[in-house]
Amino acid sequence: MPLYDPRNRCIDYLRVSITDRCNLSCVYCKPQARLQMLAHSEILRYEEILRLVSLAVALGIVHVRLTGGEPLIRRGVLDFIAELKKIKGIKDISLTTNGVLLEEMAAGLRDAGISRLNISLDSLDARKFLEITGSDSWGRVWRGINRAEEAGFSPLKINMVPVKGINDDEVADFARLTRDRNIHVRFIEFMPIGANDRWHRESCVTADEVRAVIEREVGPLVPFTSQKSAGPSDNYQIVGARGVIGFISPISKHFCASCRRLRLTADGKIRPCLLSDTEIDVKSPLRGGCDDRELERLLRLALAVKPERHYITEAGAGCSRRAMSKIGG
Ligand code: SAM
Repeated sequence: MPLYDPRNRCIDYLRVSITDRCNLSCVYCKPQARLQMLAHSEILRYEEILRLVSLAVALGIVHVRLTGGEPLIRRGVLDFIAELKKIKGIKDISLTTNGVLLEEMAAGLRDAGISRLNISLDSLDARKFLEITGSDSWGRVWRGINRAEEAGFSPLKINMVPVKGINDDEVADFARLTRDRNIHVRFIEFMPIGANDRWHRESCVTADEVRAVIEREVGPLVPFTSQKSAGPSDNYQIVGARGVIGFISPISKHFCASCRRLRLTADGKIRPCLLSDTEIDVKSPLRGGCDDRELERLLRLALAVKPERHYITEAGAGCSRRAMSKIGG
C-alpha cells in the first residue's frame, strides 16, 4: 500500500545516514567550527536500523538510500547491506558516496545488493579537489568511478555542487563527461546547511546559471525524460550525448510539492525534511524497549509533520546548523 502524507504526497523513499563520520572535509559541507562527532553509542546499531527500515517498508517505503557521513567507512557495511536486501518489499537500495573507497569496494557493493550509486565529486582537477576536500585522493576517486562502471553500475550518477569562486569554472567540463560515457552528472544548488556559516546567496550558482554556461560553452540541451527519473532532478542531454545532465534546484525552484522522502539520521531521528529542524526521536523509544506499534506511530507522526515546503530562502528563516553528515545530504 502506498504511503501518503496529509498533503497527498506519496512517500516511498527513505534516506538513511549510517554514520556521521567522513574521510573528507569539504569546505561547503562541514561547519568551520570544529564538529563534535557523535559518540559511538549515540549512533544507531545496524540491528536498530534494520528494525526501523523493516517497519518503514511495511508502511510503504520501497526505496532506501544509504548515506552519511561517508557510508563506506562504517565497518561491516557490506554485511549490513546484504541484511537490508533481505527485507521483503524493498525495491532498491542505493548509496551515495564520495568515492574514496570505491576502488576496493565497488564489486562488493554490487554483490551485496546496491543497485544504484551516486558519487559526489566537485572537481576534475586533483589540486582543486585537495583544496575543496582537504584530501589528495582525487586519483582514487576517479579510479573508483571507473571500477564502479566495470562492476556494472550504469548509469553512474555524479553529483557536483558548484560554489561561486571555488569550482563554478568547471561546470562545462563536468557536462562534457556525459558526451561519451553513460554518466549522469547532476548539478546540485549549494544549500545553507552543514557549512551554512559559509553560505550566502551569491555563493550559490543556480541551475539556470549552470545551464546557461553549458549551453554557451558545450552546446544546446534537450529535455530528457525517462520512467526511472522520478526524483527531484530536471534532466537534459547534450544532443547526441550518451549521458544525462540533471539540475537539482532546492534554492531557485522548490520541488517540495513532489518530495517523496523521509530521512533517518545517524543518531536515530526521523527527519521529514532536510531543510527544516523538525525531527522525531526514534532511538530513545527503540532503546527503551518499545513495541513495533509505537515505532510505527512515530513514523506516521513524522509524515504528519512533514512541512508543506521549506523556508530556507526566506529572509530571517532559520535553517539547520546541524552537520549535514548526521542528517545525510
Ligand atoms: N559522503 C557521501 C558523499 O560525499 O556523497 C554522502 C554524504 S554527503 C553529505 C551527500 C551529498 O550532500 C554530497 O553530494 C554533497 O556534495 C552534498 N552536500 C553537502 N553539503 C551540501 C550543501 N551545503 N549544499 C548542497 N549539497 C551539499
